[in-house]
Amino acid sequence: MTEIVMQNLGKAFGDFTALADMDLTIGTGEFVALLGPSGCGKSTTMNMIAGMLAPTHGEIRFDGRNMNGVPMAKRGVGFVFQNYAIFTHMTVRENLAYGLKSQGVTAAETRRRVGEIAELLQLTPMLERRAAGLSVNILQRLAIGRSAVVEPAIFLLDEPLSNVDAAFRAVMRSELKALQRQFRQTMVYVTHDQLEAMTMADRIAVMDHGKLLQVGTPLEVYNHPADTFVARFIGAPGMNLLRGRVIGADTGVAVDLGAAGRCPLRSGQGGEVLFGFRPEQVQPDPQGPMQMTVTTVERIGARTILHLAAGDHLAKAVLDSEAETPAQGAELRFSVPADAVRLFDPKTERAL
Ligand code: ATP
Repeated sequence: MTEIVMQNLGKAFGDFTALADMDLTIGTGEFVALLGPSGCGKSTTMNMIAGMLAPTHGEIRFDGRNMNGVPMAKRGVGFVFQNYAIFTHMTVRENLAYGLKSQGVTAAETRRRVGEIAELLQLTPMLERRAAGLSVNILQRLAIGRSAVVEPAIFLLDEPLSNVDAAFRAVMRSELKALQRQFRQTMVYVTHDQLEAMTMADRIAVMDHGKLLQVGTPLEVYNHPADTFVARFIGAPGMNLLRGRVIGADTGVAVDLGAAGRCPLRSGQGGEVLFGFRPEQVQPDPQGPMQMTVTTVERIGARTILHLAAGDHLAKAVLDSEAETPAQGAELRFSVPADAVRLFDPKTERAL
């Protein structure tokens, strides 16, 4: 188990900055997800941790030891890619045992560890099958098993579930978490899928355009996004952000949202703001201070998503499907609990 420290880490490809001044510490045995849209620099970061890419500046330390210049083979990292690398002519067992053989692990110990990992990843029934005939789902599970079985101090996974189907992805989420609980490896997991990050990671590092925007537990980044990018990117649908103006009202401070009404605030200074609230925090209320027109109703199982509009404002509301749902075209009056309101500076887009 190893602590990873990235200090002022950066990578440029010619004039293009793929990663700018990243400072991040990943604790021993911690599961951190690097989350962000395509091209934000996640894989670049991961490849530098692995030793496949040299930083342009800054350094990476494993347990205090500077890794700059240390080749991948000497870093004690296991790496699983989006595209599994499996020896198709070998059986599942032979694939799993491969890394142990090169480490000189005894036959009895190999058998035990292969058996254990196969059990954990539900590969036991197909241990003697040739990899060539197996489905994409199983091959990816095998790729994970093959890297995990050697028990690397650091386990790096780069979008390992992006090629597998949705149902299987859900199963794998819990299996990967179980795997980490069992081995207590330091795990770094690259994904653009916030559900994967939210469900598995101890902490999430949200990235965009080569920058680390926020690091926190899943609930911290969900409840207290540092800026509007994180607010929109985390949550499905993301946070609503309406332009408004903080005013003194008869009853205290409020944000004036024009056509959408005005929402009381706990506190705030006068001026333009972006008024943020989660779709899940919309509370239908005939006496509520806000009002928007329902433009679309999307029913998805246990939840109903309402698309709302008022003047220039657009927002979404997520209601429990059991709740009485307004029809398309109806006016929805609602309130947002004061402690669920988040304000952002419209110029810097940072949380206020
Ligand atoms: P994805 O999920 O699409 O891989 P990512 O967040 O992992 O996205 P990176 O692969 O780290 O992003 O790439 C970050 C940026 O750096 C992208 O714009 C990419 O085009 C660029 N980039 C990556 N590798 C190179 C390279 N070898 N030469 C030039 N540009 C590169």
